[in-house]
Amino acid sequence: MTRPTPGAGRFAPSPSADLHIGNLRTAVLAWLFARSTGRRFLMRVEDLDDRTHTDIAQRQLDDLAAIGITWDEEPTWQSQQQQRYDAVIDGLVARGLVYECYCSRKDILSAPRAPHAPEGAYPGTCRELSADERTAKREAGRPPALRLRADTGEYTVTDLLHGPYTGVVDDFVLRRGDGVPAYNLAVVVDDALSGIDQVVRGDDLLASSPRQAYLAGLLGYPQPVYAHVPLVLNAEGKRLAKRDGAVTLDELGVPRAFAMITESLGWPAHDMATLLHQFDPAQLPREPWIYQPV
Ligand code: GLU
Repeated sequence: MTRPTPGAGRFAPSPSADLHIGNLRTAVLAWLFARSTGRRFLMRVEDLDDRTHTDIAQRQLDDLAAIGITWDEEPTWQSQQQQRYDAVIDGLVARGLVYECYCSRKDILSAPRAPHAPEGAYPGTCRELSADERTAKREAGRPPALRLRADTGEYTVTDLLHGPYTGVVDDFVLRRGDGVPAYNLAVVVDDALSGIDQVVRGDDLLASSPRQAYLAGLLGYPQPVYAHVPLVLNAEGKRLAKRDGAVTLDELGVPRAFAMITESLGWPAHDMATLLHQFDPAQLPREPWIYQPV
């Protein structure tokens, strides 16, 4: 008898800068959620925007390993998966679910919005362009982005910490004008093709999850379980940044960083095994951790 392959959780850093203690804390939580439910844990480098930052990516992986996070397969790099994204986009094009968009950011912001359209949602300017209008736009020079023709205004996901969460699903971008696959597309495709069925990440991404879950449904992928965890903020209540003092593993050292993370969670520990033993998602702090630099 073969046992079914367990599902997997993941951490998916973008190599824009060294990980700070908030990123590390989110990674620890993703690992705890996965391991405490018998899942595998995978690492994905989200380097579509930072393709040349292999040194930063490598330091991120080293830092994650140094604080005790383990993963079960070689990390995957999004920059090496262009073919899989293109294949999925081609499939959506064949189903009539994609259109070209020539709008700039400014066009979108200044476009009139329908009375009930949610803020920040694409107003649909290019949705019904005729073939002639498209040709004219193309000749004007701007390479088009590709957008999903979404037929729902919103979608509801279930989040382990937030409960049912309903958010906007507009005609979001699948491939940017410069040819780079969009974040929402890449995440959905990679999670599904890696067998990831549990997505734990910062709650700044909660609002993206309805778009991603809707796209997963269109592609026939299963919906992952979500847990969007509170972020770490500075004393002003803003996102933690380099200028907030010692925030990276390099600056803090592993023992101190690990102690700060586990204390902030309410389970002081010296190693991941002890932390895993104490972990209880129901007791997880629901408020952001306000970081006091040392
Ligand atoms: N790469 C994203 C980030 O570093 C995370 C994407 C995700 O977890 O879905 O913010």
